Amino acid sequence: MAEGNRHLGYKDVLNAIEDRSPGAKASFLFGFLDRAHDRFVDDADDERAALRECAVCGSPTTGDVCAFCRLRDRVGAEAAAVPSARAKPELATATMSALDSVVDVAPPRRR
Ligand SMILES: [Zn+2]
Repeated sequence: MAEGNRHLGYKDVLNAIEDRSPGAKASFLFGFLDRAHDRFVDDADDERAALRECAVCGSPTTGDVCAFCRLRDRVGAEAAAVPSARAKPELATATMSALDSVVDVAPPRRR
């Protein structure tokens, strides 16, 4: 969503590789996981110990409320403040539906 974000380009490249060689994306992912797994075990254990349930939806989070619920609250508040969203509540509903597909990701761990 950020201006200048290159990830969509990377995604296009991966999709082009997948088109020419079906299974390449899964192979890339599982190969990475196999080779990198041991490097993340300690961090994952630490992060898992810090997880609790989101007070709103029950999903795992490191805070009281998960990132998805915080974002949904923020979008809801901003949509309520925008005249076009008030005049067209289906826009706010469509935005909320789109956000439902967002996966909650724990914030990066600080050292
Ligand atoms: Zn939540």
